[in-house]
Amino acid sequence: MNTVKEAKRIVIKVGTSTLTHHTGKTNIRKMEKLTSVLSDLQNSGREIVLVSSGAIGVGASKLGMKKKPKETDEKQAAATVGQCELMFMYDKLFSEYGHVVGQVLLTRSDIEDPERNVNLTNNFEKLFLYGVIPIINENDSVAVDEIVYGDNDSLSAIVAKLVNADLLVILTDIDGLFTSNPQEDENAHIIPVVEELTEDIMALAGPSVSKLGTGGMVTKLQAAKIAGEAGIDTVIMNGSDPTDLYKLLDGRQIGTVIKASKK
Ligand code: GLU
Repeated sequence: MNTVKEAKRIVIKVGTSTLTHHTGKTNIRKMEKLTSVLSDLQNSGREIVLVSSGAIGVGASKLGMKKKPKETDEKQAAATVGQCELMFMYDKLFSEYGHVVGQVLLTRSDIEDPERNVNLTNNFEKLFLYGVIPIINENDSVAVDEIVYGDNDSLSAIVAKLVNADLLVILTDIDGLFTSNPQEDENAHIIPVVEELTEDIMALAGPSVSKLGTGGMVTKLQAAKIAGEAGIDTVIMNGSDPTDLYKLLDGRQIGTVIKASKK
């Protein structure tokens, strides 16, 4: 089976750098494109779950913070404000295409606690039944060190596992996993398919170059590992043109597909 093409339930993770300008303000053009593509995919019978970052970045800009905050309380204040704006935008944009969205904010303890985990799973199943597009973020306004995921890459893989997704797609600001750093090596090229996430592949991940996002390639590969162990393939691809998602799901070669270790 071509898991990518035939995937029905798809978790799509979008990072701060895709959703915002360098100013930290929302990139309306990109958000419009993304919501239009996701709406159409939902219309075609797929079940979309969006894991969206951006709360801290958008909130920091809204609160007039000069730089991305580092202290927990500042991050929390920014996230509290930014999450609200993000959901306002998503609600507005998705409803233009007739879709209903719902917000789910999670912390590590919500997933690890067996009772909450069951409640969450039940909630998601109901949301799918009603055709709602769930939009997930970490609950940054309550998260403290021991309960944070810290980056939404890991969170997206945990969510993919939780909802029993067929595919995890991580949209980022680079085209996929490269053989070496494309900014330093002109011979660097994308690895289209990773059959097995070996130590050598993990070592290809350099540090993050994005100023606003939290993760880098390392956290994306870690996410692919979590998803892969749950039997879910992961695609890492550029989010700058969300219509590439159509190409991906039409079976074309886009980004890097990391095959699940367990099927
Ligand atoms: N939860 C954070 C936010 O919404 C994002 C974490 C990440 O960038 O991975 O700002």
